[in-house]
Amino acid sequence: MEVLSSISDIKRILSEHRIKGKSIGFVPTMGALHLGHISLVKRAVSESDIVVVSIFVNPTQFNDKSDLKNYPRTPELDLKLLEKSGVHYIYMPSELEIYPEPDTRVFDFGQLDKVMEGEHRPGHFNGVAQVVSKLFDIVEPNRAYFGQKDFQQLAIIRQMVIMLKLKVEIISCPIVRESDGLAMSSRNLLLETAVRESAPLIYRTLSEARNKVKELSVKELIHWVVTNINNDTHLTVEYFTLVDCLTLQPILNWPDSESIIGCIAVRAGKIRLIDNVFFN
Ligand code: AMP
Repeated sequence: MEVLSSISDIKRILSEHRIKGKSIGFVPTMGALHLGHISLVKRAVSESDIVVVSIFVNPTQFNDKSDLKNYPRTPELDLKLLEKSGVHYIYMPSELEIYPEPDTRVFDFGQLDKVMEGEHRPGHFNGVAQVVSKLFDIVEPNRAYFGQKDFQQLAIIRQMVIMLKLKVEIISCPIVRESDGLAMSSRNLLLETAVRESAPLIYRTLSEARNKVKELSVKELIHWVVTNINNDTHLTVEYFTLVDCLTLQPILNWPDSESIIGCIAVRAGKIRLIDNVFFN
């Protein structure tokens, strides 16, 4: 496992592998790694000859400056966790390396970023597209791995790949959870003890909601989920929406879509958590 920080080094090394016919798998992350990240790395290792993990806390995707400042950074622990994962290269660039000058590109994702995270975090997905397109340009992967935990991000990345006519295959990987059901997240490290104890209610509620499709309308089910979570004093639902998996547009009635996903964002104390479950 080799740690690299300059664009020219990683480009040179990867082009040598490419010449030898090796396939390249890529896992972009913002560090503070956990077993959710590692599941992506393991999938990449099982499918690609050479695996690259990037660790870069991308400032342009943070609409909230204090969120950026407080975002957990644990580089030594990250490298330790990656050591046994089978990854070949860790790419840890500086901010200047990625943004030698401000990135002024504006992406048009149509309706995809007008809902959920896009609606509540203005500019977030434009920043995601900026950094992921730059990283794709540097790594030129055959495959790139993303988690379903950030379901809307997956849709945005797929759309970006189409718009920029990139050759990379986007692989989506299931959500990895703690034993109490809470979706693993770097931000879980920031939860105060009492809030951490309340947080599993999010997934418990979503799982129960899945069993209520036959008895409740879409509107009633949304109301039930929001009320059930808001009953906990540490949790406040920012949004809970049932959307079509492809268009991400909200459904009004169950027959409106053949593949429905329920996506939620919850304020847990000072921390914002997201999660989702499939409904059919
Ligand atoms: P992040 O470091 O938060 O930018 O996440 C890097 C990648 O790991 C993204 O593709 C995330 O969707 C994915 N990821 C984060 N948490 C999980 C999880 N609990 N299960 C699966 N993938 C995850």
